[in-house]
Amino acid sequence: MRRTYPMLALALAAGVAAPQLIAKPAKLKGHPAAEAQTLDLAKQLIALRSVQGPDNKTPQALGVIKGALLAAGWQDSAVEITPFRDTAYMIATWPGSDPSLKPLVISGHMDVVEAKPEDWQRDPFTPVVENGYLFGRGASDMKFDAALATSSLIELRRAGYKPKRTIILQFSGDEETTMASSRVIAQRLRHAELVINIDGGGGTLDEASGKPLYWTWQGAEKTYDDYQLEVTNAGGHSSAPRPENAIVQLAQAVEKVGAYHFQPELSPLTKAYFEKAAAFEKDPRLAAAMRDFAANPNDAEAAATLRSSPAYVGKIGTTCVTTMITGGHAQNALPQRATANVNCRVFPGHSREEIRQQLVQVIGMPMIKVTATSGEDSIAAPASPMRPDFIGAAEKAMHLINPGLAVFPSQASGASDSMWYRALGVPSYGASPTFSKDSEDFAHGLNERVPLSNIAPGITYYLSLFTDLSAR
Ligand SMILES: [Zn+2]
Repeated sequence: MRRTYPMLALALAAGVAAPQLIAKPAKLKGHPAAEAQTLDLAKQLIALRSVQGPDNKTPQALGVIKGALLAAGWQDSAVEITPFRDTAYMIATWPGSDPSLKPLVISGHMDVVEAKPEDWQRDPFTPVVENGYLFGRGASDMKFDAALATSSLIELRRAGYKPKRTIILQFSGDEETTMASSRVIAQRLRHAELVINIDGGGGTLDEASGKPLYWTWQGAEKTYDDYQLEVTNAGGHSSAPRPENAIVQLAQAVEKVGAYHFQPELSPLTKAYFEKAAAFEKDPRLAAAMRDFAANPNDAEAAATLRSSPAYVGKIGTTCVTTMITGGHAQNALPQRATANVNCRVFPGHSREEIRQQLVQVIGMPMIKVTATSGEDSIAAPASPMRPDFIGAAEKAMHLINPGLAVFPSQASGASDSMWYRALGVPSYGASPTFSKDSEDFAHGLNERVPLSNIAPGITYYLSLFTDLSAR
């Protein structure tokens, strides 16, 4: 899961003035060994089909990472690969010199979304380098990022760096499906100081010039929750209808949910997002609404404008939408049962039960039973705090490779492994240094790719970030 800001990137292409002048990066020292290793590891990982189900190659992919770490000095006993259902997860520890400090965790996942080779132009599980891109399932989500972070840690070790704070590199094995192994990992690492999620955040390239436009770190995500609306009825023969009909009643309830808008909300994080992201919105009406909403979340007109945009509706509060309905059992019978699924994306800070009660109130029909059905696949998670140590280290690392670039926080509308950590009170920040064009974001889709121009700056970025967060 990653990259949540389509539609912002067209500002320059549309002729809007650049919000800031981006200086050319200063001459940075190259890291040829780490650069070569990044590409090599990414290719090896893509070639292993780490997809849920039979012949899931996640354990083998983790074995590739483990092999690289062992060759670079990690102890065999410090790189643990644990089988888990049809997959596996990895926890690799680089002990710091001060055991009293809580560890820095670097978090990613090794599974990928299924890909049907017949639909792709190239085989999804054969890595191909072409025209400056690496193609293959997992190129952008997230085997390239895994290779980049691993190679950067190895480069740090090769250079003789000794962390004061223990650094733990962990990969889950089912982020794209059940997220059950990531839940176990978060439980085991709940003593962490903070988590860098290398599968969140990221940079956007200008469509026309291909130059970096802005970079975001992900500090919060909405909670996924499903609710079932159910109405039952004694039924009967359709030739003798009664006033109360289960399908009609359900339809009335669905109508009410559809017409309802949850109270707009603004957090310190989304305030910072709207203030800065407005500069990259090409529609002046939306840009003005973003600024107005950041200044005053009770500005009903600004909220209404943002609500009308699919890019922003999810950022101003909880949304609930009916996604499925069933009802009736025979063409000539009164329906005995009708149900609907309402899918909600809950703004951080609200519990599942709180939203359920709100739906009950909105519907206001006692015969409609509202039940939360999401189970243990998701959990309400607060936003991570705007910690100056993380923000300072991330901005410093990003400005090392892109001086003056706009940097701001983001809140994702989908869930990532960060949710389990945040729910346990451990701050987690999506902070991938990978840039791409919105038009070339093929994560989960066909012909997934990543620009190779990310390798060298990505290593410089991670060396700086990992050092700053583990040196004290
Ligand atoms: Zn992912």
